[in-house]
Amino acid sequence: MNRREFLTTTAKILAATATFGIFPDFAEAARKDKNKNSKEVTKVQKYELPQLESLIKFEDLGIGKVNLEFKEMDVREHTGAVVIHHAGLRRDVDIDVAAIHDMHLGNGWSGLGYHFIIHKNGFIEQGRPLEYVGAHAYANNLYTVGICLTGNYSLNLPPREQILAAEQLTAALCQKYNFEPSDTTIFGHRELCATDCPGNKFFPYLPEFIKNVAQVF
Ligand SMILES: [Zn+2]
Repeated sequence: MNRREFLTTTAKILAATATFGIFPDFAEAARKDKNKNSKEVTKVQKYELPQLESLIKFEDLGIGKVNLEFKEMDVREHTGAVVIHHAGLRRDVDIDVAAIHDMHLGNGWSGLGYHFIIHKNGFIEQGRPLEYVGAHAYANNLYTVGICLTGNYSLNLPPREQILAAEQLTAALCQKYNFEPSDTTIFGHRELCATDCPGNKFFPYLPEFIKNVAQVF
């Protein structure tokens, strides 16, 4: 609901309350809906995400591989969802896979927590080997694949090449693991944990992102 609709609805509710002395059911429903996610933010500018033209198989995405050494990790037994992240560093800049790996080792983890890093130019790199449990969404790692877009998307929106690559990779993972793209299989990190990730500017576009992924199925 935008501000105008909200104000109109509020006015109707007040009128109904004054007339009938009741609080109509639809108002209660609207209120619940509005409070569902207190972290909800609105789009700050009009921006249409790039649309996928076709589904590219995972093996054909041309994913880059860096030689990273990991400590012991567990194999993930079930995969049913994808979690979208941004790197969220202080400045909105691209970052090296090896640098994130070092940071995550510094956290005491087995190494890079995300399974994929997508650079601002759309180049996808492998992070933690896909078959292992990631370290990217607390309490939700056992069934999810973590994709990180380099940059800080509370400051800006991601470049189109980067979003397109993220849509392609997400679609390929849905196909590979055989789950339907929807709002119960594609999450922004903040929907699972207390964080701003994947950024206040980017997060409002997640429904459109999911729609674009779903349309090539
Ligand atoms: Zn995150």
